[in-house]
Amino acid sequence: MNDSHSTFPALPGNDWPVFQLGWVWLAGAGPGDPGLLTLHALNALRQADVIVYDALVQSAILDWAPQAEQIYAGKRGGKPSAKQRDISLHLVELARAGKRVLRLKGGDPFVFGRGGEEGQTLVQHGVPIRIIPGISAGIGGLAYAGIPVTHRDVNQSVTFVTGHDQTGDTPSSLNWKAIADGAQVLVIYMGMKHVDRIARALLEAGRDPSEPAAVVTSATTPDQHVLETTLGTMAADIAEANLQPPSILCIGRSVLMRQALDWQSMAQGFEPRNDDPLGRGRPAEAS
Ligand code: SAH
Repeated sequence: MNDSHSTFPALPGNDWPVFQLGWVWLAGAGPGDPGLLTLHALNALRQADVIVYDALVQSAILDWAPQAEQIYAGKRGGKPSAKQRDISLHLVELARAGKRVLRLKGGDPFVFGRGGEEGQTLVQHGVPIRIIPGISAGIGGLAYAGIPVTHRDVNQSVTFVTGHDQTGDTPSSLNWKAIADGAQVLVIYMGMKHVDRIARALLEAGRDPSEPAAVVTSATTPDQHVLETTLGTMAADIAEANLQPPSILCIGRSVLMRQALDWQSMAQGFEPRNDDPLGRGRPAEAS
């Protein structure tokens, strides 16, 4: 066991897994804010010999693993998938060299993150794996924008969609008519590039152009930006605002909840209260 592991704070009832040599742990880093990392991911960071990370993993998170070799394996959307095989085989190689390999991905590794493909290749090559789920941008990113992905009076289901497939095109396997008919609230990953096409497909299939929509870019990071719009105008509004990826698109009435729950904007004019009878009002001063 290495030192960094033994200093990991013990939490009652949890035996922190020991990273064994020759294993690959596939972990989600959450949508951006380092505080949204899971404790299992932190435990992994502290023990890893090598970290293979993606474009959307914030550098502050990697700073928690100064002992580890850090290898960038970023792919930004739409590139041919040949490189994916190289990444998977590189992971196999590193594991066979006897390293503790942390494969760190943005959000959750199994949500539009190719974690399944990498896991499969590793298992096929006899490399043992552990999966560490993360907070996906389509849930946590929207929460930071004050949009609850479900809300009892609004929706009883939510549909997660990717805006492009391996070729970089809108996925041909998607039945937009069925999505338009069935999805109460739609959360679209990688949707900005083809937002024009996506919005048109939904409108042609009968969705209402005045339906509320939101675009959240760089969610949970200091660069987070939220645009509130409608299905009918979102493509034009995105172009006009010159929004840059990564972005999550949300279409549906849950966007309206932002009026009540936009907690980040509220916090700016928020007068902290210190009238908690137990004196827990203001943690910054308490310490
Ligand atoms: N596994 C990731 C998704 C990977 S696909 C997850 O679970 O979140 C990459 C896409 O995720 C981006 O193109 C964007 O649509 C979305 N995404 C990831 N991080 C984001 C962020 N901080 N803000 C907005 N969108 C984000």
